[in-house]
Amino acid sequence: MKNQLLNQIKFFNTQKTKDYQFRINQLQKLKQTIIDNEEKITSALYKDLKKSEFESYTTEIGICLEEISYHIKHLKSWMKNQKVKNPIIFPLSESFIQSEPLGNILIISPWNYPFNLAISPLIGAISSGNCITIKPSEISIHTSKIIKEIIESTYNKEYINVILGGPQKTSKLLEQNFDYIFYTGSENVGKIILEKAAKNLTPTTLELGGKSPCIVDSSCDLDKTARRITFGKFLNCGQTCVAPDYLLVDKKIKIKLIKKIKENITKFYSTNIENSNDYGKIINVNHFNRLINYLDNQKIIFGGLHNKNKLFIEPTLININKKNINSKIMTEEIFGPILPIIEYTNIDDVIKIINSKPKPLAIYLFCNNKYIEKKVLSETSSGGVCINDTIVQLSNQELPFGGVGNSGFGKYHAKASFDLFSNKKSVFKNTTIFETPKRFPPYNKFSLKIIKKIFN
Ligand code: NAD
Repeated sequence: MKNQLLNQIKFFNTQKTKDYQFRINQLQKLKQTIIDNEEKITSALYKDLKKSEFESYTTEIGICLEEISYHIKHLKSWMKNQKVKNPIIFPLSESFIQSEPLGNILIISPWNYPFNLAISPLIGAISSGNCITIKPSEISIHTSKIIKEIIESTYNKEYINVILGGPQKTSKLLEQNFDYIFYTGSENVGKIILEKAAKNLTPTTLELGGKSPCIVDSSCDLDKTARRITFGKFLNCGQTCVAPDYLLVDKKIKIKLIKKIKENITKFYSTNIENSNDYGKIINVNHFNRLINYLDNQKIIFGGLHNKNKLFIEPTLININKKNINSKIMTEEIFGPILPIIEYTNIDDVIKIINSKPKPLAIYLFCNNKYIEKKVLSETSSGGVCINDTIVQLSNQELPFGGVGNSGFGKYHAKASFDLFSNKKSVFKNTTIFETPKRFPPYNKFSLKIIKKIFN
């Protein structure tokens, strides 16, 4: 492993990866290999998570192709030195910010969107001119194997390398001196990564999860709200970092909303959900057991059926009241198809509940009321906010994606990815034609007076 990184450092030092055309060629190669292997990727995603072809394309393959195209289109302008103003005491100087690659990047990715979450940061790391090591999840075993296969058939290991393995392998990797670590996964492992990175003073991005609340105000469009919540919660069987974790619903519309969510579940996945081609499965038995435990002593108002052999858990709605507000399901990230529902009568109580928990990755708000919208935006903190929809905030490449507080730090996607994997080198170039008077010793009262005037 050590030799492998040394080879990458050597390759980085050849300066090849910094060239604009080199970067474009590598992005084009990545695009082509993804297109060529679309079937294999789709089949691996089906084996790991029973993802439908449509979801595999929209949330994993297509989104990566779109990201690559965006980088190809904008890379030239992103790479340009960014001129900035000069101080008046150095009137003929030049100042600019140069984006230079950080060097050797380590990407550690999770199992829930196993292709997208390994490839999307890779795109940014390529476009900013780095060498890369990817450590995909050992849990989504089929997709991880395909990632290794297609990367190895497309690039030299000195440039991009894929290492398969679990926590032990990752620990060994973390002993190496990478220039940057990009980690997506759970909060607990995030802490381990950060601790190890600190030993080498390696800067790190942590893309974590948490409990993303979904507020439903009585002013919302109820039909669209129910449909969009059902989509965002049960996509990938609820195993989405930005899935609405729990609902906070205005008491006045709670019964109507629940009725409509139930109708949408049936519309989306039929009455025989277990056999629906559009409904995924839980990744493995450990996660299945973890999720089933959440159902203990809860008031299930819809769903709850499960089948361990098929790793199937029905979309499930749970009523939360004062008695179970502090149960495990309300303190841990659910990461599965179970949706707790809490009613409220006052938006201030909603804000209190959200602010009593760690800062989430996303807050969802369904409302057509400017006052409520403004209040939620200004009185809560989260990685992002999506109003009147779920998940689709990720479709806008102009919006950087990432968390805040316990949901992580560092933002990526499109330009934000290019910036994340670049060192923004500040360059100041003074003129030799002219000398700023009074700047050198011996100092006197007059020069101090002038300097004070300028500074003020
Ligand atoms: P995880 O933390 O268990 O695993 C992620 C990666 O870390 C894997 O590659 C794994 O091999 C490695 N790893 C696991 N244990 C390790 C250890 N002890 N030492 C070193 N490396 C270790 O996460 P997961 O279960 O794969 O993913 C689910 C979590 O990821 C959820 O909390 C979810 O919210 C979060 N997530 C966040 C985002 C985001 O973009 N913010 C996206 C997807 C998932």
